Amino acid sequence: MIDLSKERLAMSVPGEGAAGKTGSWRVFRPVVDREKCNACGLCALYCPEGVIDADLNVDLEYCKGCGICANECPKKAITMVREVR
Ligand code: SF4
Ligand code: SF4
Repeated sequence: MIDLSKERLAMSVPGEGAAGKTGSWRVFRPVVDREKCNACGLCALYCPEGVIDADLNVDLEYCKGCGICANECPKKAITMVREVR
């Protein structure tokens, strides 16, 4: 199991998100079901923006809603939910 206490976990760790601030244009946001989650850390590892922290909180200011985290989650614990504007 991956140690989520490590400060740097993601493969890609852009300073402020490679896509810049995404809050105004993101179409979907990831929502983690902590009942299903086994804390493996794969979502944080594969997030290209490096915006999932050690507590599995997603920084929605920089998350671009790509869904890679949901796709990689072995427990299917992440749902991509359409943004309501
Ligand atoms: S949808 Fe998931 S993988 Fe994509 S940027 Fe947001 S947190 Fe990262
Ligand atoms: S990949 Fe899925 S099971 Fe693993 S830490 Fe992320 S949400 Fe939890």
